Amino acid sequence: MAKKDIFDKKITDNFNLDDYRQVNLDEICGFCFKNIFSKTIQINDIFVKKCLNCGVIKQCVNMTYDDYINWYQNYDNFIKKRGDIPYFDRYEHDHMIAQIRWKRHKRILGEEPPYPVLDIGCANGANIDFLNSIDIFAVGIDIRKIYTGKSPFYFCNLENLKELKKFVSEMKKDLNLKKFKTIILYDVFEHLSYPFIFMNNLKKILEPESYIIIDVPDFFHKKAKHHWRKIEHLYYFDEAFLNKFFHELNYKLIKIDKPIEGKSVYYLKY
Ligand SMILES: [Zn+2]
Repeated sequence: MAKKDIFDKKITDNFNLDDYRQVNLDEICGFCFKNIFSKTIQINDIFVKKCLNCGVIKQCVNMTYDDYINWYQNYDNFIKKRGDIPYFDRYEHDHMIAQIRWKRHKRILGEEPPYPVLDIGCANGANIDFLNSIDIFAVGIDIRKIYTGKSPFYFCNLENLKELKKFVSEMKKDLNLKKFKTIILYDVFEHLSYPFIFMNNLKKILEPESYIIIDVPDFFHKKAKHHWRKIEHLYYFDEAFLNKFFHELNYKLIKIDKPIEGKSVYYLKY
């Protein structure tokens, strides 16, 4: 596809990721697909620019889409170098947090979120292992193949329709399952290259009346400065921006919860 067409493209279900693999992430807005940005400025030590079409703040990351996905294959080493505990050494901690989070979801929604549950970006599997231990059937996917949990796991990138189809067909064969009633995204959304495509693809594996629970940094909160992270967090948005974005994709907002300062949890229904 010619470069001009990539930026002018009307986004439909026919979006083909292959057309975008070699586009530098710096050149395109993953929310609105335009390439008109403000000049680069620095906020909380991160070089960013503002999309002049949709208003989202985007980190300047000089990588193609494929580079970015590949970069995540060594994510644990990156985390370790930063001084944080890698995912695979914090299973017990994450298992405990999974319990606290689930209890809160029940309180916010006034009911147990229905299963099957899909945990996108399940990392060490602690969250799905906890859910399966209380008889909430849960499956996990991640863009990294390293997985040490006990629950069903698939390697899949939901921005990629081909991978999504493969995941669904494998899951149907293994588990006799095609769609989910609850989808969880803990600390995933702010890492996406093409959030629009991701949220659009998600609809293909959602049962009617299903819940989507999205945990994101509340980036402009005074206690969220540490969430401005080099390379990792591509987009910086506020509540008004996300409300509008989810609404335009026909997701109904139920509630925004603030479990801790600097974090927001969006409860959506589709
Ligand atoms: Zn934009």
